[in-house]
Amino acid sequence: MSLSFLFIPNIFEGGEIGMIIVLKPGVSEEEIQKVVDKLKEYDYGAHISRGENRVVIGAIGEKRMEEKILIMEQISSFPFVESVIPILTSYKLVSKELNPQGTKIRISEDIEIGNKQIVIIAGPCAVESKEQLWEIAGFIKSVGAKILRGGAFKPRTSPYSFQGLGVEGLKILYETKQEFGLPIITEVMDPRDLETVAEYADIIQIGARNMQNFTLLKEVGKLRKPVLLKRGLSATLEEFLFSAEYILLGGNSEVILCERGIRTFSDFSRNTLDLSIVPALKEKTHLPVFVDPSHGTGNYRYVPSMAKAAIAAGADGLIIEVHPHPEKALSDGPQSLTFSDFKRLMGELKNIAAAIGREI
Ligand code: PEP
Ligand code: MN
Repeated sequence: MSLSFLFIPNIFEGGEIGMIIVLKPGVSEEEIQKVVDKLKEYDYGAHISRGENRVVIGAIGEKRMEEKILIMEQISSFPFVESVIPILTSYKLVSKELNPQGTKIRISEDIEIGNKQIVIIAGPCAVESKEQLWEIAGFIKSVGAKILRGGAFKPRTSPYSFQGLGVEGLKILYETKQEFGLPIITEVMDPRDLETVAEYADIIQIGARNMQNFTLLKEVGKLRKPVLLKRGLSATLEEFLFSAEYILLGGNSEVILCERGIRTFSDFSRNTLDLSIVPALKEKTHLPVFVDPSHGTGNYRYVPSMAKAAIAAGADGLIIEVHPHPEKALSDGPQSLTFSDFKRLMGELKNIAAAIGREI
């Protein structure tokens, strides 16, 4: 049975439509009744629409997906049924209605994501050495960044590019946290590394390429640790929210969504930073929303403008790549801000935050 999934508003005459059943032309009343009876057997109501040459039945009710699929299979096997189309109930746990005030995620005594405070995460694309990370940590802290980023397991397009220091990188991150008192965020790519990464990190990052790695999402859902979930390179808003739903469904409700640019036909930047998803997400979900202008543009010259625009658009925080010597960086040098550029940007961001009644 091939199933096509429809995303349409599924509230209908007081009940939710769980699936749509299209009958073949020329069905008899008796055959229509067979479908209605079958639905009744599973506690579904039926809404019958009689078109000029087709009858369509809306099954009213909601079931768990497994049960729904079984009912669909049974109904599909009637010879007079042309197709059965399930209507996916939309995301639930991430919905705004569930927490209209917005989710707040406490990271440390003085950091609460999703509150009035706009939280700036900064650091290198990848942890390269202890010296590199200490230099960066000391600097970003001195200009007001609150959380240190740094990849230990790097998702590189080419297998020949620097893949990150792995566990050694995690250790450096942890030592740096101890020294500078900055919470750390780092990416996990493989469920087999999750336990180790979770031991070291304060926030677990799921990268864009893994946004739909459902095995990883389910594992992360079992943790009780904040997760920053990046939007996939071609993910729609619904797909993004469904991925977050996986994590919440596992019992972990501390999810931060992060827009990091999507792949479009536009060829002047690495990705197209879709800032309009910020207000759209704010409307639909209670989860905090971050923006990554570094991967979003791929070019240090565009990062400050997009960082400022993201704050103005209502983002709860930013994640920005900073490197003391971008020309020597082992990854993403072209999009990394130098210390002086980052310092200038932090000053500007504070003014923008103040203008919209928030603070950095
Ligand atoms: C990163 O932040 O290091 C990263 C690889 O980002 P993304 O998954 O958005 O490409
Ligand atoms: Mn990077």
